[in-house]
Amino acid sequence: MTDLEEYRRRARAWLDEHARGLPREPDLATAKTFMAKLYDAGYSGITWPVEYGGQGLSAAEERAFQEAARGVTLPIGVFGIGLGMCGPTLLSIGTEEQKRRYIRPLLRGEEIWCQMFSEPGAGSDVASLQTRAVLDGDAWVVSGQKVWTSVARQADFGLVIARTDPDVPKHSGITMFVIDLHDPGVTVRPLRDMTGEAHFNEIFIDDVRIAPDQVVGEVNGGWSAAVTTLLHERVSIGMGAARTERPASYANLAAAARKRGLLDDAAVRDQLVDLYLRERAFDLFNARLSQEVKAGIQPGARGSVAKLLLAELTLYGADVAGEILGPDAVAYGDGEGGIASALSFAPGMALGGGTNEIMRNIIGDRVLGLPREPQVDRTVPFRELKVGTQAKEAGK
Ligand SMILES: Cc1cc2nc3c(=O)[nH]c(=O)nc-3n(C[C@H](O)[C@H](O)[C@H](O)COP(=O)(O)OP(=O)(O)OC[C@H]3O[C@@H](n4cnc5c(N)ncnc54)[C@H](O)[C@@H]3O)c2cc1C
Repeated sequence: MTDLEEYRRRARAWLDEHARGLPREPDLATAKTFMAKLYDAGYSGITWPVEYGGQGLSAAEERAFQEAARGVTLPIGVFGIGLGMCGPTLLSIGTEEQKRRYIRPLLRGEEIWCQMFSEPGAGSDVASLQTRAVLDGDAWVVSGQKVWTSVARQADFGLVIARTDPDVPKHSGITMFVIDLHDPGVTVRPLRDMTGEAHFNEIFIDDVRIAPDQVVGEVNGGWSAAVTTLLHERVSIGMGAARTERPASYANLAAAARKRGLLDDAAVRDQLVDLYLRERAFDLFNARLSQEVKAGIQPGARGSVAKLLLAELTLYGADVAGEILGPDAVAYGDGEGGIASALSFAPGMALGGGTNEIMRNIIGDRVLGLPREPQVDRTVPFRELKVGTQAKEAGK
């Protein structure tokens, strides 16, 4: 047995002992205990640098662990934004002190992170954001409102972007900070969505003082910092989903159709084959991206292709589930493997992490090299803008 086979075998044995039978979304204490055990066993941050708390191993070990974990749902969703987006952003552009302070507790699940970009008037056009940060003596004073922030209620820290210079064009006057969610100036309120759960939140930030050493990247360089996070987000959404079981998958829906005697129905077979082909295309595309990432090739804008494929696959799976299951598709409870909750969450996949339309714009511009969308506001100082969130200010 090679070293790698032995690594995979030990990982599998560990997962069999510690991860089997845990709920997909356990309570916070259980999730944190599991994450700490995963870290202590050497399976969190496998390729992350040793000096910041990672394992410093190669892409081959990471791949071997993913293979060992196939078919096991790890209850680590609450850490996903830290592991997939905030941690990689800090590793890419954080200071030495930030990496030493934040990465290890993030990998061990001791501290939870969220990403605070969207605002009530700035979603797809996030560069229109209104949250402000003003330098006052030895600190930046941040005020504003964020919305749709996933896991904010559980989070200890957030990567927040705020306007630090309104006199330059909107993309140029933004800065990214680490914000402490336990600061008394931060109020987090849950937003209930149609699954019945509160997956995301709104956050009010009132005069929160942030030390200059909590700037991530350059002052007024927050747009490029945000793009770094969003590129990690799209890749991690796509790859994360490629590893997670999908309730409205071909396998589950084919079994449901068989149970109902629908497999001889030509229309049902047609939809199932279409679903299977979309799944294969998604899985193969992600397998390729993940091989490239492990070989050190960054997918860049092609992460948007993975994100778009996933959103379309999720929505199509929800349609097919509705056709096959009929009214059972909306029955909550044990039902057909949690399908009702998955179906109600499906439209969110076409919005979170960037909408399908925005993914298509990015793919057109940056992957296919088509002409860019016209933008009238790229060269105008933010303060003078009469569109987007500024329009409301101007009308006051
Ligand atoms: C499940 C989920 C989790 C989320 N988690 C987070 C999070 O953790 N942190 C965070 O900061 N945000 C989060 N979001 C917010 C998400 O990033 C935004 O919802 C998204 O960027 C869209 O912004 P918006 O909702 O303001 O819609 P808008 O930007 O107002 O868009 C409205 C519609 O117009 C379309 N549109 C807008 N601009 C264009 C254009 N230029 N060309 C073509 N069509 C366009 C959009 O596609 C959409 O259909 C989450 C959202 C969801 C659903």
